Amino acid sequence: MITVEEFQAEAHDWLATNGHDAPRDYGAICPPALVEAGLAWHRRVNAAGYAGIHWPVEHGGRGLTPEHNAAWLLECALAGVPPIFNMVGLVLTGGALLRYGTDEQKAQHLAATLAGDHVWCQLFSEPGAGSDLGGLATKAERDGDRFVVNGQKVWCSGGRYSNWGILMARTDPEAKKHEGISFFVFPMHLPGVEIRPLKQMTGEAEFDEVFFTDVQLPADHLIGPLHGGWGVGMSVLTNERGHIGTAVIGLERRLEAMARMADGKELHPVERQRLATLLTTGQAYKAMAQRQGPQAGTAASLMKLGITEMMFTSSMLRGDLSGADAMLEGPESFAMLAAPGGRIAGGTSQVQRNIIGERLLGLPREPKA
Ligand SMILES: Cc1cc2nc3c(=O)[nH]c(=O)nc-3n(C[C@H](O)[C@H](O)[C@H](O)COP(=O)(O)OP(=O)(O)OC[C@H]3O[C@@H](n4cnc5c(N)ncnc54)[C@H](O)[C@@H]3O)c2cc1C
Repeated sequence: MITVEEFQAEAHDWLATNGHDAPRDYGAICPPALVEAGLAWHRRVNAAGYAGIHWPVEHGGRGLTPEHNAAWLLECALAGVPPIFNMVGLVLTGGALLRYGTDEQKAQHLAATLAGDHVWCQLFSEPGAGSDLGGLATKAERDGDRFVVNGQKVWCSGGRYSNWGILMARTDPEAKKHEGISFFVFPMHLPGVEIRPLKQMTGEAEFDEVFFTDVQLPADHLIGPLHGGWGVGMSVLTNERGHIGTAVIGLERRLEAMARMADGKELHPVERQRLATLLTTGQAYKAMAQRQGPQAGTAASLMKLGITEMMFTSSMLRGDLSGADAMLEGPESFAMLAAPGGRIAGGTSQVQRNIIGERLLGLPREPKA
């Protein structure tokens, strides 16, 4: 097997030749305006063997290790290009299918996802179920060889441009809250699905509300055990936090960008102190990321919390340093308006602190109301 160092050198050279054709690095979710460019880039990345790096060869992957994949993420961060187009497809759905999918389900979706033919969104959150996802109310009732789906999802990133979704829905309303949920792959174009854009305070509309009215979902779209979807969903969310956390691997570049905030400016001592705090915190997270490696685990919550809080603080400092300009339309105000979303997506900072307290530090569980 090619060593991580050899692979990384190969990836570095490939990006040096091809990286100029990539769209800007849009983070975890591609905004609707960049979909065409993002997909074209992804197809090129896949053809060159850099998508599904640690997926099995029989499903279109390269059969290498998570460490090789982390090396790709690092090289992309250094080159300032997006490593993949569809995080929900490659990280969340891919992870769920590889662990819980049947051979038929893997054959139907994995290679097509790598090829960019199946583009995925995440249908988890509801108006009454976000942090407490176990409270979800969307129903999938068994009727012969189908499930009939009724309900509503919200905050679905990329819903409009996805042709597949991963859906968590209640299949046993009588069971305890976490025991009556199932996990499905869901074709977004089924009759009875209505997708409505939601506008954010940045002015963009990156996510959607999705409504289901008597949607007939074939029963073989169930992933994992019937009523056992909670475990599938939780493993998916751990992968998501791990992926957000591995953005730390590219931290060097972010730290450089942060340090450049001071370029050409006479900083007030308080601002200088804020910047120094950010840069030293960033170094600490970098060291933690290197020690932890690319595997997602409970420690993923530490990284998710750390990086999103740091990016929030950095956006606010950048705004403060720009003075009155930050009130005008431009990159500073956009960054300030977009930053709070990072602290919410993939589980809020408060929820990460609960996970860290209870599962990593072994503190008493918070009282249940
Ligand atoms: C940019 C972005 C993209 C997203 N993309 C998707 C997507 O594609 N698919 C999807 O399904 N969802 C998506 N979401 C939704 C996201 O997962 C939820 O917003 C998040 O889980 C929080 O749920 P909520 O908004 O219902 O807030 P709530 O759960 O109602 O929380 C409200 C406040 O209460 C706090 N809180 C709640 N419970 C506790 C507790 N036990 N202890 C302490 N504080 C608590 C929270 O931290 C928060 O401050 C996205 C969100 C954002 C911002």
